[in-house]
Amino acid sequence: MVARRRLMHSRVEREVDRFLNALYQVGEEIRRTRRLVELEHGPDLARIFDVQLAMLEDEQIRDQTVTRIRQELSPAESAFSSTMAVHKRTFEKIENEYLRARVGDVRDIEHQVLVRLAGGELGGLQSIRANTIVVARDLLPSEAVQLGRRLIKGLVTEQGAATSHTSIIARSLGLPTVVGAQTACSSIASGDNLVVDADEGVVHVRPKIDTLRYYKTALRRQRQRERDLRLRRDLPAVTLDDTEITLMANVDLPQEIEAAIDNGARGVGMFRTEFLYLGYRLPTEADQLNAYRQIAEAVAPWPAVIRTLDLGGDKLTHVLDTAHEANPFLGWRGIRICLDNLDLFKTQLRALLRAGVHGDVQILLPMVSDVEEIRRARDVIEETKAELRREGTAFGEACKVGIMIEVPSAAILVAQMAAEVDFLSLGTNDLTQYTLAVDRGSAKVAQLYDPLHPAVLRLIKAVADAGFGAGIPTSICGEMAGDPKAVLLLLGLGIRILSLSPGLIPEVKEVVRVLELDHARDVASRCLELESGSAVRRHLDGTTSR
Ligand code: PEP
Ligand code: MG
Repeated sequence: MVARRRLMHSRVEREVDRFLNALYQVGEEIRRTRRLVELEHGPDLARIFDVQLAMLEDEQIRDQTVTRIRQELSPAESAFSSTMAVHKRTFEKIENEYLRARVGDVRDIEHQVLVRLAGGELGGLQSIRANTIVVARDLLPSEAVQLGRRLIKGLVTEQGAATSHTSIIARSLGLPTVVGAQTACSSIASGDNLVVDADEGVVHVRPKIDTLRYYKTALRRQRQRERDLRLRRDLPAVTLDDTEITLMANVDLPQEIEAAIDNGARGVGMFRTEFLYLGYRLPTEADQLNAYRQIAEAVAPWPAVIRTLDLGGDKLTHVLDTAHEANPFLGWRGIRICLDNLDLFKTQLRALLRAGVHGDVQILLPMVSDVEEIRRARDVIEETKAELRREGTAFGEACKVGIMIEVPSAAILVAQMAAEVDFLSLGTNDLTQYTLAVDRGSAKVAQLYDPLHPAVLRLIKAVADAGFGAGIPTSICGEMAGDPKAVLLLLGLGIRILSLSPGLIPEVKEVVRVLELDHARDVASRCLELESGSAVRRHLDGTTSR
């Protein structure tokens, strides 16, 4: 609420200056953050700030506010709020869902300028100084991508769980992260020293000297191990009985490609394209072609498996108007959104097919729950190819098309699904959440979320068998592919391709190189018969690699 009062005539010009100065200050803050994000994450992500900068530089917004100050003798706060109210209403009426969702940016800019006018500093991510550990109740994945390693050394949130997309992004950024630390905000004060032990999921608040000493030594050891593993990165990922395992990289942010190559990835097993959609305008076909082409060329001759847009659930709901569902994870998500927005889908498909000229680009469809969705998506792909052909635009005729198996119906009917596609990719993050009816982002039920639950393992086995039966590759791209403890089991279940966070590849390769498949198969068949995830865990803990 902004109080109504009228200015004295003599104060008007000073008030105009105060307003213009606040606009300038907020613009400078955002530009500073934009520069940092661009340095760390490249131009695609930096574009998320452009909508706010465009608003701050918008002549209409500025002139209308100044006119209100001068003609209505309104203080800057109420003049600006009235101007922004008109803009909010305009945005809310826009047909295009993407632009309509930008009303959030209007609100945010209004808030930032009002805080400035009140003489305050912004308390958000933009005001963060060096060597900070961010402690928050919760963070959106789109906010998480703004955390840069230069300033931020770790992240602790009260909400969320290990496979929520905020955690996945924080991992992609290489940030030590503990989620689900339920009393973090009340027990940690600004300025406290913290140790974030992401491996154990523990935060030490105001650590004692002994604890600090312990972690300093542990950190040194870990760095040394990373260096040792790096020296071994070119060794093949083969088991003791000479079976080659393909280790590919999951890529969430385009700049991770370098880490993928550095860690010896055999291509990209899943590129989550959602994060190209953070900017204030949808990425054009040219923007996307550019991003996909770079990835395809960087990993050639290995494949670049690029997933079509998987919005919804906890991901970027601001991009489309998906926020009003009671159960977004069961709602308008992934392929469902794409099949309802053919323009959006076709723009992405055109870019993917065209990037196929520059490497082995493979198209991965997310959240498939019914075979009809595959057929419809394949029809759209064929239509898109026909359009490109008619125009004489070059594209990869042979681009393979695969699906994510992450919904139980797809895992149960996998034989029928497999007959329609060129490859399968198990999304165990979602498969676990949907099989066990446990929200993957909820700290409250995090102890029930267990990809090692035998119910999930049986579905993985069914999918691996069906892929084998159909003669098509079957990979795992859920987070469990990067869990050294799960690797023996996954190989025993019949999986031969793992796609994981680039930084985890060397560690997983070490596990692969010391195991025998016969032994892995024995362990897997025993685990399939167990009654719970904890029984599986106990069994794995008592088992050595061979
Ligand atoms: C998955 O569900 O396992 C997966 C890889 O997709 P995402 O984490 O993006 O939902
Ligand atoms: Mg998924």
